[in-house]
Amino acid sequence: MEWIDIHAHLNMLEEGVEAAINNAKAVGVKKIITIGTQPEDHPIVLDIARKYYPEVYCTLGVHPHDGGTYTEAAGKFIEEHVTEPCVVAVGEIGLDYYYDNSPRELQKEAFRAQLEIARRTKMPVEIHTRDAEEDTIEILKEFKGEVNGLIHCFTGTEWLARQALDVGFNISISGVVTFKSADSLRETVKMLPLDRIHVETDSPFLAPIPMRGRKNTPAYVIHTAKFVADLKGISLEQLCEQTRINALKMFPKIQW
Ligand SMILES: [Zn+2]
Ligand SMILES: [Zn+2]
Repeated sequence: MEWIDIHAHLNMLEEGVEAAINNAKAVGVKKIITIGTQPEDHPIVLDIARKYYPEVYCTLGVHPHDGGTYTEAAGKFIEEHVTEPCVVAVGEIGLDYYYDNSPRELQKEAFRAQLEIARRTKMPVEIHTRDAEEDTIEILKEFKGEVNGLIHCFTGTEWLARQALDVGFNISISGVVTFKSADSLRETVKMLPLDRIHVETDSPFLAPIPMRGRKNTPAYVIHTAKFVADLKGISLEQLCEQTRINALKMFPKIQW
């Protein structure tokens, strides 16, 4: 079986980029998308993806935590580099009203500006959203049919999942689904169509059970995948093949 981790932060891993890639490969995680979050890390993630392409790809985007730091120059950098073969999406972008690290109005401005970039460049987006369901959907509706993508590390309500599917977005499941407290998330995952889901680590954060307490790493995506396959009542092989197909459809630049 060959897996893809569609959301990792390789530049944040203590073990180092090369070790993480090798550990992942050793268990069949063949492709990794490393995520840009702020203007300062864009050259770093870009370098990682260029160096390890075509195993590793990256996204470029300004995270809602840094929405207040989004500038035209940051947008210009994203737009210029998003056409490189190793850059597969704009992201992570979105709204986070849980931490409210940036004023909400600035988060919304940055979110819309980057969705515009995705629309102009015909790139998919990776969305981060927390405690901001209604505003997220309202904004995504403005781009319905013109921008596609996924909600990464989905932890929202069933309402959000249904709305996101309705505007054409897929749902990506992280290790959170394995946590004891995630009963309602598990119910939501059960209803998701198989052709609309992804699995991810969001490493170094949110290691799945039974690795909880350790630093997460792309190799652990398989633990989340096993859990999701059980929830969906399918074999691990079936989930592997389906998530591979879904990823290739979402990110057409990925070479497999
Ligand atoms: Zn995120
Ligand atoms: Zn992330």
